[in-house]
Amino acid sequence: MSVSEQIITFKSALPKEVSLVAVSKTYSSNIVMEAYNTGHKDFGENKVQELISKAEVLPKDIRWHMIGHLQSNKVKYIAPFVTLIHAVDSQKLLKVINKEAAKNSRVIDCLLQVHIAKESSKYGLSKEGLKDLIRFFNDNINDFSNVRVCGLMGMATFTDDCDIVREEFRYLKAIFDEVKESDLNNYPEFTQLSMGMSNDYNIAIEEGSNIVRVGSAIFGNRNY
Ligand SMILES: *Cc1c(COP(=O)(O)O)cnc(C)c1O
Repeated sequence: MSVSEQIITFKSALPKEVSLVAVSKTYSSNIVMEAYNTGHKDFGENKVQELISKAEVLPKDIRWHMIGHLQSNKVKYIAPFVTLIHAVDSQKLLKVINKEAAKNSRVIDCLLQVHIAKESSKYGLSKEGLKDLIRFFNDNINDFSNVRVCGLMGMATFTDDCDIVREEFRYLKAIFDEVKESDLNNYPEFTQLSMGMSNDYNIAIEEGSNIVRVGSAIFGNRNY
């Protein structure tokens, strides 16, 4: 199947409340164009340099998602146009995004990344870290008028064991529900749960995801 057939078929099989971020990292701008020409607008990249070089040459109405780890000193390059930052995992980063958004007279939507996988990683908040960050955000809400905390993001363990993956996604959905109900109950923007990639998006959707980030299942295997 061509990329355009592939993305159309993929989207038609998604439940209507689930949106797709087509993860275009490592694929050429021509391939992104092929997907864009089907009417798809949401694309995700995990590196700032690749994101800005594609954004430069591709149509301006593409909604770019920064899905990877973001260093504070690079926020300024994407702040003028980014649609959603999926992996906010520190106070410092949230503050910098707010500051750079203000410079651009924008409000930038963010998701907080929670570490749910068994693999150790420097990235993503523990549940306690998440609670602390949300408390900090809530206590200083008037200083954060240029960011919106729209939900959570997580990545499951890279494994063929579906039970492990399901358990991790279920854990993240439970945290999401808890935060929405008890910590951010006056904050209606908190609605998005970004979980699920090519190898686990079906399980993620069953466990409550409403944004899947899918690359290789649509564009084919990557040649790094
Ligand atoms: C690469 C990547 C994806 C998509 O991976 P695929 O396996 O190609 O679907 C999703 N989320 C993040 C954070 C990624 O880096």
